[in-house]
Amino acid sequence: MAARLRIRGVVQGVGFRPFVYRLALRHGLTGWVQNDPGGVTVHLESDSIDAFLRDLHAELPPAAALEAVEVSESVSEGYPDFQIIASEQGGSRVTRISPDLAPCPDCLREMRDPTDPRYRYPYINCTNCGPRYSIILGLPYDRAKTTMRDWPLCAACAAEYADPLNRRYHAQPVACPECGPTYMLGPGRGWQAIEETARLLMAGNIVAVKAIGGYHLMCDARNDAAVGALRERKFRKDKPFALLARNAQVAEQTVYLSQAERELLLSAARPIVLASARLNLPLVAPLGTHLGVMLPSSPLQELLFDAAAPDLLVATSGNRSSEPMVTDDAAALASLSGLADAFLVGERPIARRVDDSVVAVGPLGLSTVRRARGYAPAVTAAFPPSSTPLLAVGPDLKNTVTLVVEGQAVTGSYVGDLEHLDCRKAHAQAIDDLLALYGLTSANCVVAHDLHPGYASTQLALSLPAARHIGVQHHHAHLASVLAEHGQWDRRVLGLILDGTGYGTDGSIWGGEFLVGSLEKGFERVGHLRPAPLIGGDAAARLPAQAAVGFLLEAGLELPAHFPAQARQAAGLLARAIPTTSAGRLFDAAAALLGFTHPQTYEGQAATWLEAQARQARAAHVQPLSFGWDGQTLDWQPALTALLTHSDAPAAAYAFHAGLAQALAQAAEDIGQRLGVSGVVLSGGVWQNQLLTELLAARLPRLLTNHAVPVNDGGVSLGQAALAWASSGAVKSDTDPQVF
Ligand code: ZN
Ligand code: ZN
Ligand code: FE
Repeated sequence: MAARLRIRGVVQGVGFRPFVYRLALRHGLTGWVQNDPGGVTVHLESDSIDAFLRDLHAELPPAAALEAVEVSESVSEGYPDFQIIASEQGGSRVTRISPDLAPCPDCLREMRDPTDPRYRYPYINCTNCGPRYSIILGLPYDRAKTTMRDWPLCAACAAEYADPLNRRYHAQPVACPECGPTYMLGPGRGWQAIEETARLLMAGNIVAVKAIGGYHLMCDARNDAAVGALRERKFRKDKPFALLARNAQVAEQTVYLSQAERELLLSAARPIVLASARLNLPLVAPLGTHLGVMLPSSPLQELLFDAAAPDLLVATSGNRSSEPMVTDDAAALASLSGLADAFLVGERPIARRVDDSVVAVGPLGLSTVRRARGYAPAVTAAFPPSSTPLLAVGPDLKNTVTLVVEGQAVTGSYVGDLEHLDCRKAHAQAIDDLLALYGLTSANCVVAHDLHPGYASTQLALSLPAARHIGVQHHHAHLASVLAEHGQWDRRVLGLILDGTGYGTDGSIWGGEFLVGSLEKGFERVGHLRPAPLIGGDAAARLPAQAAVGFLLEAGLELPAHFPAQARQAAGLLARAIPTTSAGRLFDAAAALLGFTHPQTYEGQAATWLEAQARQARAAHVQPLSFGWDGQTLDWQPALTALLTHSDAPAAAYAFHAGLAQALAQAAEDIGQRLGVSGVVLSGGVWQNQLLTELLAARLPRLLTNHAVPVNDGGVSLGQAALAWASSGAVKSDTDPQVF
């Protein structure tokens, strides 16, 4: 007798077949292993394979992930030994592409061993680590279809590449100083260029450094002159800079880390982790309560610290404010020439831009703020079968794109805000790219987009040939993203969607929505914040005091004397204002009433300020502000009235959070009882507010929220895809809503 294993998951291009080979040798088993279109097939000439299976799960290579291992009986084929059989060609639509991974301990050890051929080599990697997504030009994943194709392997690398017992067996980006690319700074190459970069950073310079998925601008985080110069040159007034710490010890000196935060920091994805600040670095993060810290994600970054760079660096995206991160060397030299004092250029091209990911640990667990390097393009949700692939183009802010093929939702890397031409190009590119990786065109797909007719993403979607176009309401998509992530395809829930703004089904601007329903049957709007006029449209999003004027006029309240003239004059635009239920604007208004009356220099600044104020309050002595609830409308008027006469901003900010959490809990209980729904789902950008989440979680048990994708608009494409699935005939439904 024999056994046949069909293994699905991230099992190609991650050293899986040599791992199976070594395991079979150790267990004295004969047979074969082969990549196939669905993953990997293993044939074992034995029917006692329990020990083999146990070790398969226990010793999985770090970059691999198992989704399913199906074991069936098979007939003996009489194999005398164990073999790795060449792959079936043609590639598969469901082959998982691994995200880019930080260097593994074995590679780091070799990189620091003076006797190793790859001593101080900035492109060292193996099947357990290194770049993947950022270097792939096409599938199937082999060297000829990566950006390493221009560097033929030397004899030594070729021997490692061909040896099933070697850690570099079929490691596509394998290279060494003999045959591979290197880094350059001016005339200096390799280690010399890295040492010179470290010296320049130590001396207070700003250096553009090529990373895995784009260029960083780096400087010494403790050098105020350098950080100040970077702010001036980037025209970046207040938005915090990310930090790159030499190692976990330096990170611990910089921020307070819980066990979960430490694990995220050290994970192979190496995201930026937002955590409470221990160091006071006002120029790095003007609000000062939190800092975003990451550890080296490439051999080059490790080597920079080995070469005595300052042990805490600012590492911010190499771009001018809000443009996409630069990936191309010539473009970097051109567009960053006024920003950087020097360039450390790596020769290996970047196939696609991959920003640094940003995560935090919130009251409900992992909170993804920006999903990019180390995570994309991993699967974000498993979908029930549907005959047609689904393409969701995302919204215009914090855009991502999701493609669902054969039940797997692949969400691409963070694209950005599509108001910029370069980001719109990157968005179109991201769509082409994701489709091409799976051998599809948009005409094969149901294409989902936001309902907003003015969104660039909507217009792009409608210009694409498609099996069908589906418009998805923005906040329905937020709610759907959570249900899809959790695999809840038929569960009826209440969604508390607190968001910035999104186009409503009635043409007004939504953003504080109570929705009831399921993915299969669609959602119904059962409640919302009391609407207020959004005066001056997007200008109200930039100037919190102007947002506040809309709320105050709606409530017949007087405008505070401390408001800037611009905001007070905006009252004249009232007649042309569109009503909004935006929770984001409500937070802006509350911040303005408590003193944040200047324009925001980055999105979410006022809300972050309000949360930071609240965290300074002595919470035990604070009485929550009251909100009204009539069964459908949550009324902010009593709370804002109280804020008009506050005497203590931190206490008032806390009272606002506590009161809103209390009112939301009451509304959820009321709706839940009347409509017979128990599960409560949180999504929308306002839920990045961890204090509000914590206060609500204390009142409502078993809240569901996003983890794999952001609660902010970065998660919307997944939700669009989920509702496109529901409406594209994949499910039987007794209602047939036109609009999701
Ligand atoms: Zn490695
Ligand atoms: Zn070599
Ligand atoms: Fe949104």
